[in-house]
Amino acid sequence: MKSLFPAGRILMQTATVMLLCCAILSAEARSFTISPDLGPAPKSPTDIESAKIRHLHLARLMEKPAAPPEEPEGSCRYESEILTPPPTNRIALTFDDGPQPGKTEQVLDVLAQHGISATFFMIGKKAALHPELVARVREAGHQVVANHSWSHPNFHELDAAQQVDEIVRGDALVSQFNGPKLFRYPYGNATCAGNALIHQRGYKIVGWHIDSCDWAFERSGVVARKDAHACGVLRQYRRDYVGHVVAKARARKGGIILMHETHTRAIRQLESLIEQLIAAGFTFGTVTSPEFQASLR
Ligand SMILES: [Zn+2]
Repeated sequence: MKSLFPAGRILMQTATVMLLCCAILSAEARSFTISPDLGPAPKSPTDIESAKIRHLHLARLMEKPAAPPEEPEGSCRYESEILTPPPTNRIALTFDDGPQPGKTEQVLDVLAQHGISATFFMIGKKAALHPELVARVREAGHQVVANHSWSHPNFHELDAAQQVDEIVRGDALVSQFNGPKLFRYPYGNATCAGNALIHQRGYKIVGWHIDSCDWAFERSGVVARKDAHACGVLRQYRRDYVGHVVAKARARKGGIILMHETHTRAIRQLESLIEQLIAAGFTFGTVTSPEFQASLR
């Protein structure tokens, strides 16, 4: 009887999450029916990417309870969210999906003003298009330019050969700098085969303690209800990006923060975010600082 209990609990959790997701989707459908004249605005590449992130967050919520950690593949798929405690009150800033002309420069300026080093997880294909921005990140003293795959796919949808290709082609970017080898999965979606290959090539896998949810604030500065649910933004912070991140940092007592170079609204608030983190008593390291090593895999 005892062995049946976890399975029952998992089924109940799955049913609850599915009901929640269905409720959100049906509420979305209802609001669309009520206001058919407010059709969605044309979508930018950032909007399309945000929609994919939202979809994958919801998929994760639905799948997580159904993937018992004792099953090897289940234990690999979502390990990007670091569950172990970070070094107390230390923050490591990370910026994904760059380099991004016009935005990478803004991030570098704010970091320089505060003397903070960060880690940039770059998409290989974009880095190849903008080598001058990769060089600027390096010259600004950010020792790490890290592998965020070649073209930013969802690894859960790739076969083994495609995963190898994404990791190896992204590796060409990192290897030329002779720095620490760090890999972050696009969307945080990992696989056991990918993990094995990444480790074979001498990489540490970097997840995050704190998801800034910058993509959810991007469109209007107000996080939609379904996005707040998908990314874990509390009701009182749905209009307050900085407040959301600082509250999460307080709750985790520091940690690695996930941000993106692609979201204008969040980058405009980066300075305010850093100032409020400092005011809250946090100090800054990087993911390669000794105290963060226990948070890497
Ligand atoms: Zn990414």
